[in-house]
Amino acid sequence: MKRLEKLYEGKAKILYKTEDPTLMIQYFKDDASAFDGVKKGTIVDKGVINNQVSSRIFQYLEENGVKTHFVKHLSDREMLVKKLDIIPVEVVLRNVGAGSLCKRLGVREGTEFEVPILEFFYKNDDLHDPLINDCHAITFGWATKEELQVLRSSGYRVNELMEKFFKERKIRLVDFKLEFGRHEGEILLGDEISPDGCRLWHWDTGEKMDKDRFRFSMGSVEEKYQEVYNLVCSDLG
Ligand code: ADP
Ligand code: UDP
Repeated sequence: MKRLEKLYEGKAKILYKTEDPTLMIQYFKDDASAFDGVKKGTIVDKGVINNQVSSRIFQYLEENGVKTHFVKHLSDREMLVKKLDIIPVEVVLRNVGAGSLCKRLGVREGTEFEVPILEFFYKNDDLHDPLINDCHAITFGWATKEELQVLRSSGYRVNELMEKFFKERKIRLVDFKLEFGRHEGEILLGDEISPDGCRLWHWDTGEKMDKDRFRFSMGSVEEKYQEVYNLVCSDLG
């Protein structure tokens, strides 16, 4: 499948049309941004790693009954996906306190949650992706009540599966963000699942192996992304 014209260029990826109007190619860039685009930079080979890690995780989720947009890992930086009408509600799952939750609620980083916390955010850069609830999403037409139910149950299921997947690879899944979209009457999991959108701590050392290293200029960003790749994709041969 070949790339046709560019449909959209975002901060981390480019979407291209293909000959099939129901399919698109996601091209993974090395560009990194944080704090609503205030901090910008490059993480060498991030695109290659995020494409590979996302492909592996989408495959695993599909094998376990989760419907995703993933069709095929096409090349180093290209993934063939089903074209979605993205629902502008980001679904965040948290197993351990970190990031905006700690700031908002005064929770200590590293606090373990007995039951995972699910949050919805409105996907809108101009408004800095504010925290919302069901009433907002329904009233303002971002998603229906039924769609939110799917997002919620799918979010919890993906968390359960991913926690297990990462634990088997010595990684603590702290939190992550999911995006869903509509495709031919179904809701599919879209976008990417990678160290850009997940907080991943080494199980033994607690070391951060995700975009927080870039956000907070902690160094060894490339090395830690590579380590995640090695742990996640070690069974690919
Ligand atoms: P951003 O738009 O936040 O800068 P990216 O650079 O990652 O983020 O751009 C990828 C864009 O593609 C995101 O806005 C995401 O919602 C969207 N997207 C992801 N998967 C699909 C899909 N299968 N169909 C249509 N859009 C998608
Ligand atoms: N996240 C993301 N994109 C966003 C917002 C959050 O990928 O636009 C991810 C983030 O990497 C983390 C989780 O979602 O794994 C929870 O993020 P949080 O709300 O703590 O916000 P942050 O600290 O990233 O501002």
